[in-house]
Amino acid sequence: MRRSWSSALALGLALAASACGTLSVADEQRLASRFEAQARYEYRFVRDPVVVQYVERIGQRIVAAAGPQPFRYEFAVVDDPEINAFAGPGGFVYVQTGTILAARNVAELAGVIAHEVGHVVERHVAENYNKQRAANLGRRAAVLGGGLVYGSAGATAASLATGLGSAAVLNSFGRDAEREADDFAVRVLPVAGYDPNGLPGFFETMLALGATGGGFLSSHPAAGDRLATTRAAIAAETLPPDLRVDDGGRLEIIQRRIELLTGESRPRSRGDAYGREAGR
Ligand SMILES: [Zn+2]
Repeated sequence: MRRSWSSALALGLALAASACGTLSVADEQRLASRFEAQARYEYRFVRDPVVVQYVERIGQRIVAAAGPQPFRYEFAVVDDPEINAFAGPGGFVYVQTGTILAARNVAELAGVIAHEVGHVVERHVAENYNKQRAANLGRRAAVLGGGLVYGSAGATAASLATGLGSAAVLNSFGRDAEREADDFAVRVLPVAGYDPNGLPGFFETMLALGATGGGFLSSHPAAGDRLATTRAAIAAETLPPDLRVDDGGRLEIIQRRIELLTGESRPRSRGDAYGREAGR
């Protein structure tokens, strides 16, 4: 415990010394391995290779469509019925099983993943880390000065030094960042071969389910706004033909597999919209 805190603090100081403003790509990469290790500790991951490879393949198609990237992206499936997804530093993207179960087609799942990739590509995660660091530099200095390594302040400083400040903190994005990630998704999805209407489609799915969506569908801006904005952006584009909406029943197989593995089940609609379009 002590060793990890002190090394975390050392990393935090190294990062603080290295960059003011934007976190460098190298620093974000260093942060990424620590974040990933902590995430493995905090979350339960689905290990089933069929499920993981399914999500990984969609994710890598999106990353490839985005052009050369400084990070090697990795996609993980979190065993959690909440409809959510989040991004860590350095290209780690996490998709909750609740999201996979709720998606009505592969385009909707790809929409969520593309949005999260967008937060990494646009460096939003790095920006949030820097904001947290700036807000806590004073406290961390006090911790170091006073040697309060075992107090709660020490734990907070250590977690922020590793960039963990919890995934929730790193994924609390403002209105502009959410719009940028949505824009990215709408642009990249057709290049990856997916119908970009999957993103607004997933907003509809969530609205129909009455899901709040945690970080993915935060209240700023509201889901209805994002739905309208992304639909309008898509309508303004000329889309290539034959974009993928369904994948020949593969998603349904993965969903059934998740149900068997986790005991979770596909969510039921609160309204009619979900059921009506489910067979689309
Ligand atoms: Zn977002």
